[in-house]
Amino acid sequence: MSKRIIFHVDVNNAFLSWTAVDKLKSGEKLDIRKIPAVIGGLKEERKGIVLAKSMPAKIKGVVTAETLLSARKKCPDLKIYPPTFSVYKEYSDAMHKILCEYSPLVERYSIDECFLDMTGTERLHGDLENLAYTIKDRIYNELGFTVNVGIGNSKLCAKMASDFSKPNKVHTLYDNEIKEKMWPLPISELFMSGKKTTEKLKQIDINTIGNLANADLNMITRKFKKLGYMLYEYANGIDDSPVISEREAYKGIGNSVTLPIDLTEETQILDVLQDLAVQVSERLRKENVLASVIVVQLKNSNFKSYSHQKKLEYGINSVNDIYFVAKNLFYKMWKEDPIRLVGLRTTDFVENKFEQMSIFNPPSIKENNKVQKLIDEINSKYNSKVIDKASLLNRNKKY
Ligand SMILES: [Mg+2]
Repeated sequence: MSKRIIFHVDVNNAFLSWTAVDKLKSGEKLDIRKIPAVIGGLKEERKGIVLAKSMPAKIKGVVTAETLLSARKKCPDLKIYPPTFSVYKEYSDAMHKILCEYSPLVERYSIDECFLDMTGTERLHGDLENLAYTIKDRIYNELGFTVNVGIGNSKLCAKMASDFSKPNKVHTLYDNEIKEKMWPLPISELFMSGKKTTEKLKQIDINTIGNLANADLNMITRKFKKLGYMLYEYANGIDDSPVISEREAYKGIGNSVTLPIDLTEETQILDVLQDLAVQVSERLRKENVLASVIVVQLKNSNFKSYSHQKKLEYGINSVNDIYFVAKNLFYKMWKEDPIRLVGLRTTDFVENKFEQMSIFNPPSIKENNKVQKLIDEINSKYNSKVIDKASLLNRNKKY
């Protein structure tokens, strides 16, 4: 399989840049990026903290998250501006809109960061590194603020790359560059390695990302449990998580059937629900995601619609698991009225790796997913349903 190409677009110093750009746009002459300035909230200066700082403020020693009071001591001529989230949302939306022109798969990771899955778009765009420069410059020319673009074969590597040096830069961290570009970095730079974890890792002499990548995995998971496993994978550049576009994440994956007749029997409705579970689980596995919220919707013969949902502690995507949850929801909600529409929807996707590592999952669920994946592989090889659930085969279609 060819490697994925992922972009991570990250606004440089977002809050301060966006406030600066907005002030210039509304006619102010002063660019607050060029004077000692911070974004800090809120009305009460005493309690407010620094959310973002300009370069001149940084040079005077102002750091993010310190109190405005202490920042002012370091820098008496400091200008303080309140955050304006409505303005930030506008710039964030404008950037997202531009990015959506380059890929159908754009994930808004935070207000100032997006992932783009660019895999297979070379024929459309030509050289993708050149494209990254084009996107970066276009955002600057049209919207007035700078971004970094990181390019990698996974979301993790793209994100690490966009952090290399700032501002207004394009960096790559392909799988074959991990050793040279990522392993020498201090362990504190690794994504998801927080302050506490970093300290603990240093205590066992893991000081660089390379140290962790080459450490004994058993020892790491013994000491750090599933976080350790994840960080070990990250240190080795392993991250299969998909780029999930906003539309998909929001709407989820689901399907519904409007029936030609009213269904009044429990078994009839469950048959429909099981069919939907088959379709939905196939789509989830095709997208390589696990859903942690399952929603069942019913509409009765008077067109009154009602739905019930369950939030799970873990993600699922096998037919058995989805049908099991959906069936229980159905039992809880059905008022024994005649049903005209049955819907099944899944949302709140989680990454595959969390599911694999979860120690809270009943083992049957993990096994189910494995079996299901195998069945999918066999069926797709023979291009038909060679293997299916016995209950689906023998069932009488009553609708
Ligand atoms: Mg940023």
